Amino acid sequence: MQKYLKLLQELAVWFEHFELAQVPRSQNKKADVLSKLAYLTFSHFQKQVLVEELPCKSIDNDLMVASVEEEQSNWMEPILQYIRNNALPNDKYEARLVRERAPMYIIQNDILYRKSYFGPMMRCVGPIEAEMIVDEVHNGSCALHSDYKTIAAKIMRMGYFWPSLYRDVAKFVKRCKSCQSHAPQNRLPRHDMIPVN
Ligand SMILES: [Zn+2]
Repeated sequence: MQKYLKLLQELAVWFEHFELAQVPRSQNKKADVLSKLAYLTFSHFQKQVLVEELPCKSIDNDLMVASVEEEQSNWMEPILQYIRNNALPNDKYEARLVRERAPMYIIQNDILYRKSYFGPMMRCVGPIEAEMIVDEVHNGSCALHSDYKTIAAKIMRMGYFWPSLYRDVAKFVKRCKSCQSHAPQNRLPRHDMIPVN
């Protein structure tokens, strides 16, 4: 909808007068019927109705996905190495962790995904992209200044995963001035201020 609005605003400058109004659904029947014309065949129209068929969408549907250069050695690397080449880190403890965690992951089209019991697979991201995602969810167009658990859950519902997700979001929220100023404050008197009878 945002893209359509932007396109509309660009086109609006060509009109002498332009007004944008929100119409309640009950008064929107004509437009609703018109919008459904696309599903009908036009052969039975008795009166002349001008219908322009749009061969493609007015908006560019390809989202620009910034390609993020992650450092080679991030948390995904040992898991990728193990799944691809059965290679384990030299450190015994590290190796055990990788072997235990690997079954939770899968590679598809060269991308590492974390399997999920509750929903679709989540795409694994490195620290740079992770930081960008937290920032977007927290401060972006639909800014969510909420507690860290809500934000972390939203990121996972969006289909992203990294192991320190909860910890990173908690740190981010702590740094956010807006979150801190709206955080619930303890209005109870301090213990040492309660009068003693
Ligand atoms: Zn915030």
